[in-house]
Amino acid sequence: MEGKKMKNVKKKIAMYWGAGCGGCDVSLLGIHEKLLDLLDEIEIVFWPCAMDIKYEDLEKMEDKSIDIAFYNGAIRTEENEEIAKLLRKKAKLMVAYGSCAIEGCVIGLANLYNKKEIFEAVYLKNETTKEKILPSRDLPEFLPYLKTLDQVVKVDAFIPGCPPPKPVLEEALDALLQGKTKFGKEVALCEECPRKDTKPEKIEISKFYRWHEKEDNGECFLAQGIICMGPATRAGCKGECISANIPCTGCMGALPRVRDQGAAMLSAIASLLDVEDEKEDEVIDSIKDIIGTFYKYSTAKLLPRGGMKDES
Ligand code: SF4
Ligand code: SF4
Ligand code: SF4
Repeated sequence: MEGKKMKNVKKKIAMYWGAGCGGCDVSLLGIHEKLLDLLDEIEIVFWPCAMDIKYEDLEKMEDKSIDIAFYNGAIRTEENEEIAKLLRKKAKLMVAYGSCAIEGCVIGLANLYNKKEIFEAVYLKNETTKEKILPSRDLPEFLPYLKTLDQVVKVDAFIPGCPPPKPVLEEALDALLQGKTKFGKEVALCEECPRKDTKPEKIEISKFYRWHEKEDNGECFLAQGIICMGPATRAGCKGECISANIPCTGCMGALPRVRDQGAAMLSAIASLLDVEDEKEDEVIDSIKDIIGTFYKYSTAKLLPRGGMKDES
């Protein structure tokens, strides 16, 4: 085609918002001016939040006609599950976008309770709800437990974060548009943390604090006895929260090849602590809300079978 400009074939993209807060759905806008470059390369064919399109339109598309489907949010209802399966059928690449889709995120903590308990807490015991009524039956069926996307369909790539931070998203989009499904850093957040030079080899403390319980002196949070998930969290965000003087809660998830982020963090703490053996348990016991702290994002992934209590 010498002398003639090659026609730019745009990649067909779909974006779907499952069970999540919506932060992921709008996080694409967070890449700012890069979005304009992106629009030269992609054609959005399905994005219910941003365009007038119905599920029937998706059903009518040819199988594998979408190049990349981004699914954000978890699988909490029958509808989420149906759309995940439909998108999988229609897309060449299926991408779990954000912590909810990858590991369940904060809403995955609901897997510690059964459906009856969740409905009672949300609709009947919630003090801010004026009329105590349960939802009608014509809503999509609420599944007995929350699932991650890869517990429902095969997933080709994962973009971590809650929502995916800008540098993570930019790298992932570049890779995916080139057909690559592996991307991201393989080191812990501490490696790129703005406070990394103040992280000591050993931590001499007698008690752990929650962030709001102690005045921040600007040094490594762990050295101050404030829980920071950096040692067990995958790098990539460049320490977004820490730059805002907030400890990391671990939204980027575990490092590659580490299954249990919470256990990895407990192990990191144990190896960092420089206290007498008999005091170690006491220091670890001072950590409040073990599940909410160490498994804030990964409870559903690690506890997929509908919580610890029987459905009743
Ligand atoms: S991963 Fe975070 S930002 Fe994205 S939908 Fe879930 S809660 Fe919202
Ligand atoms: S523990 Fe937290 S504050 Fe300390 S270096 Fe690691 S990420 Fe930074
Ligand atoms: S600092 Fe931690 S919680 Fe904040 S964006 Fe990075 S990985 Fe997520």
